[in-house]
Amino acid sequence: MRTRIFFKLLVAAVIVIAVATITLDFAVRRSWEASLRQQITLSLTQKVELFAHEVQDVNHPGLPQDVSEISKAANARATVINRAGKVLADSEANPPEMENHATRPEFIAALQGRTGSNARRSHTLGIEFLYVAAPIHGGAVRLAYPLTEIRETVSEVRKTLIEASALALIIAILLAMLAANLIVRRLRRIMLFAEGLASGELSTRISDNSSDEIGQVAAALDKTARRLEDTFHALESSRNQFETLLNSVREPVIAISSDQKVLWSNGAFSRLVPQLRIRDSLIEMVRDPEVLEAVHASLAAHDARSAKARMLAPGRIFQCTVAPMPSGAVLVFHDLTDIERVEKTRRDFIANVSHELRTPLTSIQGYTETLLDSTPKTDDPVREFLLVIRRNASRMARLTEDLLKLARVESGEWKLELQNIPASALLIDAEINLRGSATQHQKKISIERSSDQQVVADPDAIQQVFTNLIENACKYAPADTQITLGVRETKNEGGQLEFYVRDSGPGIAAEHHGRLFERFYRVDRARSREAGGTGLGLAIVKHIVLNHGGTVRIESVVGQGSTFLFTLPCAANAVHHEESASATQSR
Ligand code: ADP
Repeated sequence: MRTRIFFKLLVAAVIVIAVATITLDFAVRRSWEASLRQQITLSLTQKVELFAHEVQDVNHPGLPQDVSEISKAANARATVINRAGKVLADSEANPPEMENHATRPEFIAALQGRTGSNARRSHTLGIEFLYVAAPIHGGAVRLAYPLTEIRETVSEVRKTLIEASALALIIAILLAMLAANLIVRRLRRIMLFAEGLASGELSTRISDNSSDEIGQVAAALDKTARRLEDTFHALESSRNQFETLLNSVREPVIAISSDQKVLWSNGAFSRLVPQLRIRDSLIEMVRDPEVLEAVHASLAAHDARSAKARMLAPGRIFQCTVAPMPSGAVLVFHDLTDIERVEKTRRDFIANVSHELRTPLTSIQGYTETLLDSTPKTDDPVREFLLVIRRNASRMARLTEDLLKLARVESGEWKLELQNIPASALLIDAEINLRGSATQHQKKISIERSSDQQVVADPDAIQQVFTNLIENACKYAPADTQITLGVRETKNEGGQLEFYVRDSGPGIAAEHHGRLFERFYRVDRARSREAGGTGLGLAIVKHIVLNHGGTVRIESVVGQGSTFLFTLPCAANAVHHEESASATQSR
């Protein structure tokens, strides 16, 4: 750094000195030379006029002698020339050997009665002269001053100028070294300070009291270090608080980077997965495909995802919520083991009770039928009682059947036999299977939109879905109306088809839509009971569809009928959905 700054300063000084020298040499030398020449011309003019006054005539007696004396006195070459241009006397050359001077400009001017001057190289002596001529009787006198003297004086000055420049250069080098040394020492301190800051030494300070630019840089860095230290302390304390908080939380929490490396975990997670090491890959800690898939999806979509973690600890089930962070994600595990156990006990209980009720109910129905057959078809109150018993017994039988179905679907006992099947086949089967039931209720079923696209489904389970939806439409819509079936493509990225069953019934108010698929939820309890409903049909529909990896919803406006819609995965996404179906099935 030192040499670079030194050279920069030196180059700057050399450029300044060189420019100054060249400027001086050109501008000053020229004007100085011009003024010297002007002075010499003036003095030579005065002297030549004196010369003319003294000689007056070309026939002046003792001319050579006088010319030589005048030359000495004037310190210039003196010449006398007659009107024809012939040199009559010259202080420095032999006149007969000299050429005719008639063409010399200063001589021509003198013959015209003026004092003329001209600078040129002398033919006789071969050096540059300044000639000044003045008229006399019968010719002219002339003085010549060698300009070489001006040149010599000027080159003397130039020499001095160059010497001064060289001296200035030496001084500049010394000054550049000194200045470079000073600057470099200060910059090096700043550099070391900045390096310290970069490596995390936030408590160091730099003190540079000068107010120049370097001092200002040092002060700004100092301020930055102070701010960084404050921010760092604040961050550290909030991080500590946050860590204490998360460590006190009972739920296991883990933070991962965007390349799925473990960044941090709380105490609960470390206790759950003792082999956990920071910076290890998540896949080495959590070998649960559902969780890993949720993490992958959350990181890709920058969206929260959740999944069930069954393989985190033996015999325990967690609900894992993956929430994206700016450069990674946070996974929170909520222990569902107890809830799942209670749920399972409840499901098992319902299934057992339903199962146990089946046999006595069948025998009640059987005996009631036998008794009815043997009772005469009169207004006998006994027959009335028997009819009530038969109606309620079959209602109970439906209820137990539905409860059993729901328990089987919910527990995953009903294993779906998934296959690729065209959507049209599912619709046609539904239409054929339920045509009779619809006719009984004075309804007609029609397929509005079909598709040959394949879906992944268990046809029997889907027929159960259609049965429940179409039977509802038969139950609640007025006679002589249409039940419309159809299928259409959805816009969601998973590639699913949406099936629908539409009726022109009473419709369902929006406030019921959220709870409609809950078990035993009824909009109109009396109407449902009268129609022989159990309140479980839509709950069964929901679970079957969820087990296929699909979703259910309703679109309905009171007085304008209802449309029940459910989605099924397309065959192209078979692998993904088979996995998720088997996962939801075991829920
Ligand atoms: P249910 O056996 O009572 O029909 P579901 O679970 O099948 O039980 O339906 C729940 C409730 O939703 C029904 O009680 C009924 O009030 C309402 N519902 C279902 N389908 C329709 C429909 N197509 N039109 C009007 N209401 C309906």
